Amino acid sequence: MKKLKLHWQILIALLLAIAFALIFPEYVVYVSWMGDLFIRGLKMVIIPLILSSIISGITNIGSAKNLGRIGLKTLLYYFLTSTLAIVTGLLFVNIIKPGVGAELGLSQTVDGLGVNSDSFGTTMMNIVPTNIFVAIVENKMLSIIFFAVLFGFFITKTKNTHRIFLTDLFNSVFDVMMKITMFVIKFTPLGIFGIIVKVVSENDNLAELGSRMGIYMATIFLALVVHSFITLPLLLKVIGKANPLKHFNAVKTALLTAFSTSSSSATLPLTMSAVENKSGVSNKITSFTLPLGATVNMDGTALYELIAAIFIAQAYGIDLSITAQIIAVFTALLASIGAAGIPMAGLVMITIVLTAIGLPLEGVGLILAVDRILDMFRTAVNVWSDTCGAVIIAKSEGEKLKV
Ligand code: ASP
Repeated sequence: MKKLKLHWQILIALLLAIAFALIFPEYVVYVSWMGDLFIRGLKMVIIPLILSSIISGITNIGSAKNLGRIGLKTLLYYFLTSTLAIVTGLLFVNIIKPGVGAELGLSQTVDGLGVNSDSFGTTMMNIVPTNIFVAIVENKMLSIIFFAVLFGFFITKTKNTHRIFLTDLFNSVFDVMMKITMFVIKFTPLGIFGIIVKVVSENDNLAELGSRMGIYMATIFLALVVHSFITLPLLLKVIGKANPLKHFNAVKTALLTAFSTSSSSATLPLTMSAVENKSGVSNKITSFTLPLGATVNMDGTALYELIAAIFIAQAYGIDLSITAQIIAVFTALLASIGAAGIPMAGLVMITIVLTAIGLPLEGVGLILAVDRILDMFRTAVNVWSDTCGAVIIAKSEGEKLKV
């Protein structure tokens, strides 16, 4: 019998999970462990995968000139698409005005509020780790990436015997990590079944859908759809000269996983394998752009930050001036860069935007109930944008791709 393709297996697992959670809510605990185990497996590979992939990628990029050029293109792409996403959000939230007339039931409190009080300067400073092992233990992605880039770069500066040995070594480690990754990926349908059963059983607020919260969710959803299905494909086609549909097909397993796990970081192993093996982008590009993208390029989150903040302002009856809206755009971008690639990171980061435009932090209580669902959609968009970026940059470097 021909084996069912992975994305079909995942889709079936998703649907079965929803049915299971609705029909047998009392048995959720017996299956949710599969989701926990799967996430543990993904987390297990992330750090060694990032380290080995960046180091081997950089040694393959070679010269400082190449690295600078690819780095600049990558950052430009991240800035451009996140800003486009935010502007799309701004448009929709001003047209639909989902918060006008919303109920202010602000009784809920939010864990972790105020945690992100670091200034932008401190956040930047913290990218340089004082101890790389502490950075690794604490999952400080940007610091790990920074160290790996340096390490890879200076391998290319050592004498031939060392350079060849270390390049071979890290290429080999990367190869092993990819094999482990593929092994973990095999369990995606089971893992996703476990995750979704839990999510559905914990979110029984379907009644919200008919209310103002439904309109708020629809606003975000529509803006995400426009960004993913119009803006990004246009960029892929026009700048990247790639086929958006083919690329979408190539990465759909990763997108479904992003949707189900709500974590760009946890999805990274699948994103890398899809963009490399199915879209045909070289390891040189993926190993540099994708780990960076999973941490700093979050179009969906950026768009969400902006809409959520303006929704809260509307709910409080506060009319935001044009200046305040511009500040909101800028801080939404910063919040999306600062958000970690983990579930609900964006919700906590919204405090940056609220503080900047003078809105009460309690406003977060308003959007809390539906955040988990929105997180799934915005994470999928975050990952989609990362993959489009890898393709566009690869094409601009003259690579021949499969999409
Ligand atoms: N969950 C998102 C991600 O991992 C971040 C967020 O909460 O917006 O990409």
